[in-house]
Amino acid sequence: MRTIGLIGGMSWESSAEYYRLLNGLTRERLGGHHCAPSVMITVDFAEIEAMQRADDWQGAAERLAEAAVGLERAGAELVVLCTNTMHRVADDIAAAIRIPFVDIVDVTAERILAAGSGTVGLLGTRFTMEGGFYRARMAAHGIEVLVPEASDRALVHDVIYRELTRGVVRDSSRQEFRRIIGDLAERGADGVVLGCTEIPLLIGPADTPVHLFDTTRLHVEHAVELALAAPDAVPGGTSAPARPAATGGGACSAPG
Ligand code: GLU
Repeated sequence: MRTIGLIGGMSWESSAEYYRLLNGLTRERLGGHHCAPSVMITVDFAEIEAMQRADDWQGAAERLAEAAVGLERAGAELVVLCTNTMHRVADDIAAAIRIPFVDIVDVTAERILAAGSGTVGLLGTRFTMEGGFYRARMAAHGIEVLVPEASDRALVHDVIYRELTRGVVRDSSRQEFRRIIGDLAERGADGVVLGCTEIPLLIGPADTPVHLFDTTRLHVEHAVELALAAPDAVPGGTSAPARPAATGGGACSAPG
């Protein structure tokens, strides 16, 4: 099994979930005492969050590309960035390494298409819901994305930063998310993307009849598949939109 590299800390509440799922799924697949060989570099979310607020995406890209290079040096054979929001700078990260970068948007898009959906709702930080990068990459897969109205986008963003990334899970917020998910379904979404890796800590399939695409779980499932895949299956065969060629060549999105 290949060694999985994780860029964590954004926030560590969801990185812990990545680690738990990664090892749990590997044990399910391989049995016995098997777990997933992995390396995680945890960045300080206080620094990244400050860069987000300052609109310093270039600074954040450099910091995360540095982490990805560190993972490659430490023996990682593929890189998983444990946040949707920071996929805004995915191209910079993928370009810094020679090993595959497993893009959370591509992985989620493949599952949406496999489920037969063409229109989905999206919940995430305001950077994810409003920034355009997420919607554009979904659109490249032929998927239309609906986002909540402005006041609900603010609510979702605030719950992420004031509660979930600080380890706070409130029933009152879960009720609001249920309402917002219901609204998106009424507006025509076939399902809703939990496009922030902490949202599954708040809400899951038991809370709503609407089909949820849990990006944390989908990302980990895909990374495990890739880590277990035959050598000639990695990389290649991707349905992902193209990324700029990597320095030194070879960086790519994960195959589907
Ligand atoms: N983990 C979150 C996400 O998936 C938000 C934290 C961040 O800004 O990276 O978008």
